[in-house]
Amino acid sequence: MADHVQRPPRHVPRRTCIGCRQEAGKRELVRIVRTPEQRLAVDPTGRANGRGAYLHATRVCWEKALKGSTISHALKFNPAREDVEALRAFAVALPAEESEDS
Ligand SMILES: [Zn+2]
Repeated sequence: MADHVQRPPRHVPRRTCIGCRQEAGKRELVRIVRTPEQRLAVDPTGRANGRGAYLHATRVCWEKALKGSTISHALKFNPAREDVEALRAFAVALPAEESEDS
């Protein structure tokens, strides 16, 4: 497959969005985390303890991730339903798609 992914400079941390499976710089992504208390939470600082995964700050990516077992797979646990609902609520507040000029 001929894709046109730009090779980033090596020193820029890259993470894969678990929604669309595309790589992006950490700053474009929102971290979610499985806390030591086995809760699922949004981690706006990107520094919370626990196993983390990354998502673009766009609703489409969150909806993709929230739809199936993507999050439980990425974080290797089954989050509480209320925590998943909290992420859903968070996603609703996100822009539908990536804006080029943010
Ligand atoms: Zn994405």
